[in-house]
Amino acid sequence: MTSINTAIQLMTREDAEQSRAGEGTCSPDLAKGPWEFDIPTVPERAPDYGPGASLQDLAPVSTPRQGVLPEEYQLAGDAELEARILAAKEALGDRLVILGHFYQRDEVVKHADFVGDSFQLANAALTRPDAEAIVFCGVHFMAETADILSRPDQSVILPNLAAGCSMADMADADSVADCWEQLEELFGTEPDDGGRQPVIPVTYMNSSAALKAFCGRNGGIVCTSSNAATVLEWAFERGQRVLFFPDQHLGRNTAKAMGVSLDEMPMWNLRKVLGGNTEQELLDSRVILWHGFCSVHKRFTVNQIEKARAEFPGVRVIVHPECPMPVVDAADEAGSTDYIRKAIAAAEPGTTFAVGTEINMVNRLAAEYPEHTIFCLDPVICPCSTMYRIHPGYLAWVLEGLVAGDVRNRITVEPEVAAHARVALERMLAARP
Ligand code: SF4
Repeated sequence: MTSINTAIQLMTREDAEQSRAGEGTCSPDLAKGPWEFDIPTVPERAPDYGPGASLQDLAPVSTPRQGVLPEEYQLAGDAELEARILAAKEALGDRLVILGHFYQRDEVVKHADFVGDSFQLANAALTRPDAEAIVFCGVHFMAETADILSRPDQSVILPNLAAGCSMADMADADSVADCWEQLEELFGTEPDDGGRQPVIPVTYMNSSAALKAFCGRNGGIVCTSSNAATVLEWAFERGQRVLFFPDQHLGRNTAKAMGVSLDEMPMWNLRKVLGGNTEQELLDSRVILWHGFCSVHKRFTVNQIEKARAEFPGVRVIVHPECPMPVVDAADEAGSTDYIRKAIAAAEPGTTFAVGTEINMVNRLAAEYPEHTIFCLDPVICPCSTMYRIHPGYLAWVLEGLVAGDVRNRITVEPEVAAHARVALERMLAARP
């Protein structure tokens, strides 16, 4: 199998044939080492997210920055990095567990003890109680969740601190608190005759620990893309309406499938009073949607689906619920990464799948299931900008640090924040369909 990284290197070589129209990569900079984007050119300015799907998104000034990766790791070739990672793993033995998200590059995933989505991985780490170090090859909020669920004496490490998530960054704690204050002023804080609160806050797993804690403190809950409908049901039993952040698309797609009309789902624009809504619109709402989105999943379009159907009659189109509503409506199925994996695993041999999710995962599924034809709906290779920041060079650097007794890039969540966030996570685990 050609990895996505290798494909990008080949496509961006000077002597490469011109990419076919509309294909190729979304940025030739993807062929560079991520360390080239870790240091912003103007230090006091917010860094951008770097090449990939989130390149055009605005990063908050507070986005964590990665220091300089020592040159020996930048210059080392693939084979040398692989040998160094394997040697460090061997030296650390059971003291180490490496977690690899589905959207990571193959060159990193091959070293992972567990591969999965963010919540699966945080739970997988719990099965290795001897591990002193949990190296999370994913993005910042995932490492925070692992830290919340792990023991205090275990260190959770993110190999590159610049591996944030542009969607999670779209809802910061101050803006959500401001929204909440306006909603409390409008709706009051007293429950109705049925004991239902005016608003229940629901945060997607893809959010900071501070927002999970906000939900924990305010009678709210966390959801994943696998259990969003169950969680919304839980919230509707306890509240007259829901404030859903940060992903508008997951919120809208899930609530719509449950029968909530689009008129009952106003969007909250954080730059406007009452989020840009009238009082009546908010009073009539069932789900107030935060204006966040995933730039990876926003790339998928109805046109791509029509093209896939024209070229591959009988194709099964499966997309992630972070895709915009028209795309989810046009697809045959929508579901989490876990749903997509299971659907492909259970299909009759010879099935053709067009998949709407991150390209590294789609490429790996195509290799794992050669009995099917599997391709990404988007013909342009455009991986997640922040997942891309994790490169074998950083993995080698943090692992060799551990061997030398130096814990690099540890992610810690304040105990008070972690305690409230755990409440919201526990509510999610207790929620039943
Ligand atoms: S794929 Fe989207 S939601 Fe996932 S880490 Fe990347 S930007 Fe965030």
